[in-house]
Amino acid sequence: MPGCDYSEISSLFCNFIDECKGKKVTLLMHKNADGDCIGASLAVCMFLEALGCECKVISTNAYNRNFNWLPYSSNILIFNSLFRSTVVNYIDESSVIICLDFSQKSRIDPELANFLDGKRVCIIDHHQDKPDINGVNIINSEASSTCEIIYEILNIAYSDKINKDIATYLYSGILCDTGHFITQNMTYRVYEIAADLMKRFNLEVHIINKNIFGNNRFARMRFLGHVLSRCLKIVPNYKVAYIVLTKEDTEKFYLKQGETDGLVNYALSIENIEFAALFNQKNDGVYISLRSIGDFSVSDFAKKYFNGGGHKNAAGGFSNSSIADTVSNFINYLVNYSFLKFNN
Ligand code: 5GP
Ligand code: MN
Repeated sequence: MPGCDYSEISSLFCNFIDECKGKKVTLLMHKNADGDCIGASLAVCMFLEALGCECKVISTNAYNRNFNWLPYSSNILIFNSLFRSTVVNYIDESSVIICLDFSQKSRIDPELANFLDGKRVCIIDHHQDKPDINGVNIINSEASSTCEIIYEILNIAYSDKINKDIATYLYSGILCDTGHFITQNMTYRVYEIAADLMKRFNLEVHIINKNIFGNNRFARMRFLGHVLSRCLKIVPNYKVAYIVLTKEDTEKFYLKQGETDGLVNYALSIENIEFAALFNQKNDGVYISLRSIGDFSVSDFAKKYFNGGGHKNAAGGFSNSSIADTVSNFINYLVNYSFLKFNN
């Protein structure tokens, strides 16, 4: 298996699972949970419930409606004004917390992060970030996705516990984090895993794909047209493109949570572009998505300038500055990366 000895982390995981049996477990997702985070959390939730644990998946905020079709996703508790005290009570009563697809406190609401210090914690993640949460680390930064890690560890020790729903969660997470099996984190192993899940459980992969990527609201498509014609820019002389979304842009189209996901890939899809960014202005600041092709690490870039992190070719960060300053700072930082210049 590329890059990781799964027998080692699988036995760490098994020891942790033995501790969990019969206990109340919280499965925590990161802010703006994506398909990998949601798939991984629901998969581990169903697996632990089969072992007799009481489990709840908790989302730091509202998440992308394209995942509402996943089995039992309606049981996910969202840490919003309606369910705030339910979530707090549940975590408070849990003896175990499992963090899925993140390893840093900054990726969740600070109120939820406060609970991590007093609990037995396990982190299952594939980001390059240095963990700042204490717990059992089930981490492989070479893996395409957290769902790939979960497949590998379940397949070694609990293969008989993978059922069609779990296979659907894992396949969906892998599909999302590899951009339909095409991004630079792809390995032959990912194809093997997808093929194994599809074969063993008769997954109708075209339906999974339609549910996730072919379920756009018409208003979202109109918004996409607006973004491509008005908000997408190229930095002169650089192999860099970016999209600026102001609050007015997103409010005018009544966008829902998650509907800006994937837009940054349009910037990266332009000929000769190797580094793409999306600046998304929200009430609390500017959320930044970064993508690259090749060896340029956007995770390092996000960490250095925008308090963020992620993976080599897909990362994110945040800025408290105005959207105009954030974008102009971004353009100024580029002078430090002369390999991104044309005719270099
Ligand atoms: P996206 O641009 O799709 O929001 O995020 C790209 C990748 O970077 C995802 O794996 C996501 O989990 C990660 N990421 C996004 N924002 C942050 C951040 O603020 N900090 C860190 N460490 N990772 C982030
Ligand atoms: Mn992921």
